[in-house]
Amino acid sequence: MDKQQLSHNIAQLLSRVRRSAEKSQFSNSDILVVAVSKTRPASHIRWAHESGLSHFGENYLQEALSKIDELKDLPLCWHFIGPIQSNKTISIAAHFDWVHSVDRDKIARRLSDQRSPHKSPLQVCLQVNVSGEHSKSGVTLAALPDLAKTVLALPGLTLRGLMAIPAAGSDEKQQRQDFAAMRAALSELQALAPGLDTLSMGMSADLEAAIAEGATLVRVGTALFGPRNR
Ligand SMILES: *Cc1c(COP(=O)(O)O)cnc(C)c1O
Repeated sequence: MDKQQLSHNIAQLLSRVRRSAEKSQFSNSDILVVAVSKTRPASHIRWAHESGLSHFGENYLQEALSKIDELKDLPLCWHFIGPIQSNKTISIAAHFDWVHSVDRDKIARRLSDQRSPHKSPLQVCLQVNVSGEHSKSGVTLAALPDLAKTVLALPGLTLRGLMAIPAAGSDEKQQRQDFAAMRAALSELQALAPGLDTLSMGMSADLEAAIAEGATLVRVGTALFGPRNR
C-alpha cells in the first residue's frame, strides 16, 4: 500500500457510498465513513487524513493507544469498535470520542463514571446481536430497550444509536433483513429519545445492503487499506 493507492481507494469507496445512498429509499445524503485502521500503521492513517478522512475505528486497545498518541498533532476522531472488557473502559473513556460496542449495563456505567467531566460526552452506540448468534457480542433485541434507558440516564455518555455486525457469510437477502431489523429497532427507540440519529452498520463487503436499509455510518477497513493479516 502506498499513499497514491490509498487515495485511489478512498475516492472509489466514497463514490460507492454515494451511489448506494442515491439508490436508497432511506436516503441519507451524508453518510459518515469511519476508516477501520486496526492492524494498520500510523503512517497509513496520516495518509488517509491527507486524503480527506478524519474518523478512524480501532478494535485493539493497546495498539490504538499508541497510534492515538503518535497522531495527536492531527484533528482526528477516534471510534472504539471492538469487544470491551471491564478493565479497558478507563482507557477507552480517556482516549476515544465514540464507542460503538457497548452491549451491557456494567460497561456503560463504568464508561460513564470514568469519562472526565471536562471532556465532551462519549458518543455511544449499542451493539446489537441482530443475527442472534451465540458466539457474537451484542445485546439481544429483547434486552435493547432496557439497556438504552440505562445509557440515556447516565452522565458523560450521549446515546447516538445502534451498531451491528451481521453473521459472516450471510447472503444479501439475509443481510438486508438484519439491517432492516436494526432500522426498526432504532425507530422504536426514537420514541424514547428522538435525538438518536446513528445506524452504524455496513463494512467493506456489505455496505450497499446496509445503506439500502438506512445506515448513517459505515465502518470500512479492507476496501480502503487492503487485506489484513489478522
Ligand atoms: C474489522 C471491522 C470492520 C471493518 O471490516 P472490513 O471488512 O475490513 O471493512 C468494521 N467493523 C468492525 C466492528 C470490525 O471489527
